[in-house]
Amino acid sequence: MKDDDERKITQCHHCQEHFPTEGMDQLLPVPWGYTEEGRFYEVFLCLDCRRRHFDTHKESYKTAYEAYQYPGFGSDITPWITESEAKVQYCLDDSHLEPLQNVVVKSVQAAGKFQPIKVFYEKLILDKARWVFGGEIGIANARVDLA
Ligand SMILES: [Zn+2]
Repeated sequence: MKDDDERKITQCHHCQEHFPTEGMDQLLPVPWGYTEEGRFYEVFLCLDCRRRHFDTHKESYKTAYEAYQYPGFGSDITPWITESEAKVQYCLDDSHLEPLQNVVVKSVQAAGKFQPIKVFYEKLILDKARWVFGGEIGIANARVDLA
C-alpha cells in the first residue's frame, strides 16, 4: 500500500471535513493521546478543531514569556515584543494587533532621534497567534507558508 503511505491526509480527524493538502488551510498534526500500549500518537486537525482542542488542552509556555527576576534589578522584567517583530515572528497583521493592549515607548533611531514605537507583552502576542493559526504547529506552518 505504498500509495496510501504517500497520500497526504485531507480529512480532519475530528470534524471529518476535507481540506487542501498544503497552505494555511491544511490539516496539521496535534498531540492527541496514548494508545493502549502506551505509545504516544497524534492526529491531523483543521484550524477550527485545533482551536477547540487547544482551548481545552492548553499548550505550555516557555519560561522566557513570563515576567522574571534579574539579580540586582529592583522589579520583575517582563518580556516585550515590538509591533514590527510581532508581525515578523508571529505572522500577525494590524487587525490582529489592534485590539491588544500595548505600550508606546520611545526608540532611538540611527539618526539619534526618538521615535514612538508600540510594544506588546509577548505572551499576549503568542496567545493571539496560537488562536489565529491554531496552536504552535499552526504558527510554524504560517511562518513557512507566509514567508
Ligand atoms: Zn476539523
